[in-house]
Amino acid sequence: MSTTLELHRIEKRYGATRAVAGVDLSVAPGELVALLGPSGCGKTTTLRMVAGFVEPTAGRILMGGSDITRMPPHKRNAGMVFQSYALFPHMSVADNIAFGLRRRGVPRGEIAERVPRMVALLQLDGLEARLPRQLSGGQQQRVAIGRALAVRPRLLMADEPTGNLDEATGDEVLGLALDLVARTGCGFLMVTHSTRLAARLNRQETLASGVLVAP
Ligand code: ADP
Repeated sequence: MSTTLELHRIEKRYGATRAVAGVDLSVAPGELVALLGPSGCGKTTTLRMVAGFVEPTAGRILMGGSDITRMPPHKRNAGMVFQSYALFPHMSVADNIAFGLRRRGVPRGEIAERVPRMVALLQLDGLEARLPRQLSGGQQQRVAIGRALAVRPRLLMADEPTGNLDEATGDEVLGLALDLVARTGCGFLMVTHSTRLAARLNRQETLASGVLVAP
């Protein structure tokens, strides 16, 4: 099977600032990788290049063996979970989870089967009709994970996904995400500054001043 994600000498410069200065990284199917490092070392920029929100200055990004370096975000077979949840505020839990499926033209009948299954896996039963503002932070983040995973991406990315939650809730939400990712076999790339959270993943990669530090 081809590698889920490969970064080859990926680099991002903002004027004189080298936010990311040449990173080689790969994620295998089902592998959970944590990107660690102090503030400003280039973690978020690296993740945003993989997601397609930031265009690399140099280097190549491959997903499933195909070059996606210049591909727009919505065409990449990847999902993203943010610290701030970033749910659609006017959409119900069910509609948030169904969003990517509708946009990809998944048949209505299949959406009607897949959304309740995701709701059950995320332990959101009974909350389907609620709006995001009617949910706790932990519940909102579970919806965001459901929305990202519903389209069955090859890669799930998360940027400090538990940063807005208290420690116990954050641990619970991350546990649920890891469990779901393990069931789907997609890769998982998480940015964190917490070595405690990173220890729950398969592999930890540390950045310093835009380059990976040898373990
Ligand atoms: P981290 O996520 O590890 O905290 P970032 O990837 O956000 O680090 O930032 C890495 C470096 O790039 C920092 O020095 C930051 O100030 C700089 N940087 C990030 N985004 C921009 C931008 N849009 N314009 C200029 N500099 C940026």
